[in-house]
Amino acid sequence: MIRQTGDQKMKTLDVKEKSTAAFESDENMLQAFRNRNLMLLGWAALPAMLPISLLHLHKGLYLLSMLMNIVIIVSMINSFSIRSNNRVLISLWFVFALMFITLLVGINVIGESSLYWSYPVFFTIYFLMERSIARIKIIVGLIILIPYVIYLFDFDLAIRFSVTLIILCYFNDVLNGTQTKLYSRMKELIIRDPLTNAFNRRHMNLCIQNVIEESNRGLGPVCLLLMDIDHFKRINDNLGHEKGDQVLKSFVDILHKRQRKIDYVFRAGGEEFVVILRNTELKQAVLIAEEIRKHVEDEEWLENQKVTISIGAAQYLIDESDDEWLKRADDNMYEAKKFGRNRVFPQQAS
Ligand code: GH3
Ligand code: MG
Ligand code: MG
Repeated sequence: MIRQTGDQKMKTLDVKEKSTAAFESDENMLQAFRNRNLMLLGWAALPAMLPISLLHLHKGLYLLSMLMNIVIIVSMINSFSIRSNNRVLISLWFVFALMFITLLVGINVIGESSLYWSYPVFFTIYFLMERSIARIKIIVGLIILIPYVIYLFDFDLAIRFSVTLIILCYFNDVLNGTQTKLYSRMKELIIRDPLTNAFNRRHMNLCIQNVIEESNRGLGPVCLLLMDIDHFKRINDNLGHEKGDQVLKSFVDILHKRQRKIDYVFRAGGEEFVVILRNTELKQAVLIAEEIRKHVEDEEWLENQKVTISIGAAQYLIDESDDEWLKRADDNMYEAKKFGRNRVFPQQAS
């Protein structure tokens, strides 16, 4: 990764491949997408609702007109807030409660033609919210709206309206669930290495940034273990690339098995792996590294061929950059190679 060890000269690679794609940041892409839709709908509320609200005012429907104006103002405030700092200032619980009350008042004072507004209101809930939250709002909304409509209109109309609204909500629910599932699957594909299922290097850069920020804010020590499989080329040469792949997979399985909740395992490239140990002093990190090294050495991986690893450990020093930290771990890993491989460097924390 930072350096390729071997008989050849060491080569320093750039570890920074930071991408600007939204989904690679910690930000939830779906949430960002929903916020953007909320912002656009907020802007659209003004030209779409203001003329109708003025018409109601003209007809003397003051309560309905006032409620519609409040919906417009609240939506615009959220749009401005999302635009300036990507935050929803006024809770969507409040916004939808307000929209729902406006809908009920509209149905009451205007009658049947206002029923049609129920479809966009219910649709918007699924469009803008996480499925579990949307479901609660939809169910509460239906429980209130359907008896209200049965009470106000003739039974035949009320049933037709209710059934079509329930069908719309059902399809929306299915769509929302599919969208969420696809998003989580895509996120997994983006952050994981397909061969070993360890996190990939791009995700590593992001996580390293995050733990550095935590450490600089005094949230405990953090260590990095840089691991390189010894003479891996020989494994490939002697037993074939497929066996080599199998070794990489099994190695990551070992790391995942001993992984604590606060550890991350990354494939930094080729046969090099990084483990980030949060809340861990160097002394403890070295012990963990030694335990992994021993485990790998003792494991019966291949017939007549031992597999060993060299590990460089480094604790993050306040205010150093990610490159500096990785470079120290890499230097230590190189020392481990130099001292004969199959070892951890430093052997003890000083
Ligand atoms: P050292 O002990 O100095 O680390 O020697 P080494 O042979 O492990 O290191 P070297 O950098 O010379 O070779 C690394 C090899 O890893 C070369 C490359 O073909 C192999 N390799 C990289 N990625 C993969 C992979 O995904 N699958 C397999 N099977 N081999 C890989
Ligand atoms: Mg290597
Ligand atoms: Mg190697």
